[in-house]
Amino acid sequence: MDLSYSAEEQAFRTEVRTWLGDHLTGDFAALKGLGGPGRDHEAHDERLAWNQHLAAHGWTALGWPAEHGGRGLSLMQQVIFHEEYARADAPARVNHLGEELLGPTLIAFGTPEQQQRFLPPIVAATELWCQGYSEPGAGSDLANVQTRARLETGPGGEQWVVDGQKVWTSLAHLSQWCFVLARTEPGSQRHEGLSFLLVPLDQEGVEVRPIEQITGGSEFNEVFLTGARTDAAMVVGEPGRGWGVAMGLLGFERGVSTLGQQVGFARELETVVERARANGSYDDPVLRDRLAQATVELEVMRVNALRGLSAVTAGSDSAAGGGAASIAKLVWGGWHRRLGELAMQVAGADGLTARGAAYDLDPHQRLFLFSRADTIYGGSDEVQRTILAERVLGLPREPRPTTPTTSTQGAR
Ligand SMILES: Cc1cc2nc3c(=O)[nH]c(=O)nc-3n(C[C@H](O)[C@H](O)[C@H](O)COP(=O)(O)OP(=O)(O)OC[C@H]3O[C@@H](n4cnc5c(N)ncnc54)[C@H](O)[C@@H]3O)c2cc1C
Repeated sequence: MDLSYSAEEQAFRTEVRTWLGDHLTGDFAALKGLGGPGRDHEAHDERLAWNQHLAAHGWTALGWPAEHGGRGLSLMQQVIFHEEYARADAPARVNHLGEELLGPTLIAFGTPEQQQRFLPPIVAATELWCQGYSEPGAGSDLANVQTRARLETGPGGEQWVVDGQKVWTSLAHLSQWCFVLARTEPGSQRHEGLSFLLVPLDQEGVEVRPIEQITGGSEFNEVFLTGARTDAAMVVGEPGRGWGVAMGLLGFERGVSTLGQQVGFARELETVVERARANGSYDDPVLRDRLAQATVELEVMRVNALRGLSAVTAGSDSAAGGGAASIAKLVWGGWHRRLGELAMQVAGADGLTARGAAYDLDPHQRLFLFSRADTIYGGSDEVQRTILAERVLGLPREPRPTTPTTSTQGAR
């Protein structure tokens, strides 16, 4: 395992750091620290402008091949970018679902026409995407998707007509397009007969209803599709074979941004320690022990992520084969949720009241409330444990509703 950086990588780190230092100034400086999980409502338009500024200077689609408008950077360079981005406290990008999930999926599975139509506006951050997988009866059990789509010929030519309901659709209220998993073969069961469709949201057949969360924000939505239309060519992969595309997309989830995410976690932990020092709770040896434990666990996560990265760059797929993605999700989801609980313990009575108006929460209160979701989205803890038990440890399979299926679903 080689955890050192080459001279070229160090130079790249300096380039990123310098660029961010030079550009995260003026109006953009006010955006520092804004956005991200549980805070997507913050300064959306301004963060979109920042995202477009990044794009104009070649800092989007870093890992995509150059022929698709990307930078073709190595895995390690992408990690360095995300680390420096988090270290600079740069605002959360608004286009991550397009850039990190749909873009790579279109590169892998899309037609040349789909790639030419959709990839440039993802790179430029001028068209935003959301993920329409989950339904009221299809979360962990994603193969239970009930949304239906049929081909019809009308005045607009041959089109898919989509009916159903999606739920927990993050950022649908701010997106122009949604990638939707729908059943296109009547009578089909489970993961057979599903298609991966690209559906424009600005049309009569689509209603987006925000869901208000315990944090007071509404970053996700219910999406009602009632005769929603999209052109026949807007299917990715073969009609009826959408399951493979949908699973391929989930494989791209949370790839190289993990180490950047951990830099963000370290910053959050620092603020909790600072608060403990300021309000005297740091003198409590039990609390101090928990803060130390959180610090140690974060360091273990960092080294583990580097180990996974090192294995991938060395060409060994043992990290993936060893269930690294499921282990990482289980560990960071639980760690971050416990950090929220620790922050409230440090805050003491102050954690119980809002600062002024209802929902005027401080960052630690928001962290506590939103981090409850960390062990659910991106595949719940129970689902991750089942994956590890069955695929890595070879334990007997859990009983399935009907035919066996896989479900690791749930991006943000
Ligand atoms: C913040 C947030 C953002 C999200 N964004 C999106 C999005 O943009 N697009 C999208 O499509 N979805 C999104 N989701 C939905 C997410 O994918 C689902 O919440 C997740 O897949 C779990 O599904 P569910 O909520 O239906 O819970 P369920 O699947 O009903 O699970 C309920 C509980 O039962 C447990 N459980 C379920 N099955 C099993 C089993 N076989 N064995 C043991 N335990 C089990 C689960 O672990 C969980 O604790 C988001 C969710 C959150 C919280």
